[in-house]
Amino acid sequence: MNNPALKRRLALCLTPLLLALVLIGILSAQHRVTINRQAVTLRTGPGLTYAKVKHQAKSERVRIIGQRHDWYKLALSDHTVAWAPVWRVNHQTKVANGNALSEATIVIDAGHGGSDVGAEAVTDSTKAKYMEKTYTLKVAKLVAKKLRAKGARVLMTRTADQYVSLKDRPKVAERAKADAFISFHFNSSPNANEGSGVTAYYYHHNGSKQLAKLMSKAFAALPLTNLGTKFGDFYVLRENSQPAILCELGYINSKHDFKKIRSTAYQEQVADRVVAAVNRFCQLRAGK
Ligand SMILES: [Zn+2]
Repeated sequence: MNNPALKRRLALCLTPLLLALVLIGILSAQHRVTINRQAVTLRTGPGLTYAKVKHQAKSERVRIIGQRHDWYKLALSDHTVAWAPVWRVNHQTKVANGNALSEATIVIDAGHGGSDVGAEAVTDSTKAKYMEKTYTLKVAKLVAKKLRAKGARVLMTRTADQYVSLKDRPKVAERAKADAFISFHFNSSPNANEGSGVTAYYYHHNGSKQLAKLMSKAFAALPLTNLGTKFGDFYVLRENSQPAILCELGYINSKHDFKKIRSTAYQEQVADRVVAAVNRFCQLRAGK
């Protein structure tokens, strides 16, 4: 082929064709994935509450054919359809048996933030002000870290000292179809040193009350008085269609409670109790 003009024309025709072939190859490879069935549970729908899909094979090559609120729709080799969490498919690390959290989406809500400081404590010795917003964020971050370590997908309404409106908080749970929404606060009595203890609030009976009960049971191990569960007409609970609770983790304007609230040991203990209760809740909600 000595004709340069013909060579050019041939190259012009072939280059797009080759590019298209490469692109098709990349795209089809992206939509195929191998599922380790010991690490990823497949379900009949996009959520923890759907029934498990029974299986024999240890691993399976599947095709991703869709996605709904962070669950993949998968075409299996036997031409049936199943669902799995996106974060589990992308990170197929094995999780301990009975760890329902690995399939759960949890929204953690650190109360207040930014210009909304929440309740305040004033210590006699330094006259320094301690704000509720600081401690809700500390606990929220700790809980998020521990939940993620168990494989859960965690969304936070805030991760820094910033203002987030009440309206925007439950929206995070709505959009993600979260399995649980947990809001953290600290209480305050009209006069200092008059209140003490922890409370788990619920509004709806859509799993919220059950979650509050499990949380309160877990709180029995905390060093502050357990005030049990209560009905609470809070915006973040009322305007929330997902299971939602609000935890008051002690009275910030009580010297006795604040000594605990500010200690890392107490914050760690609270976070461990929250994770245990949410895991138990997810176990009970999970489709078998
Ligand atoms: Zn508060």
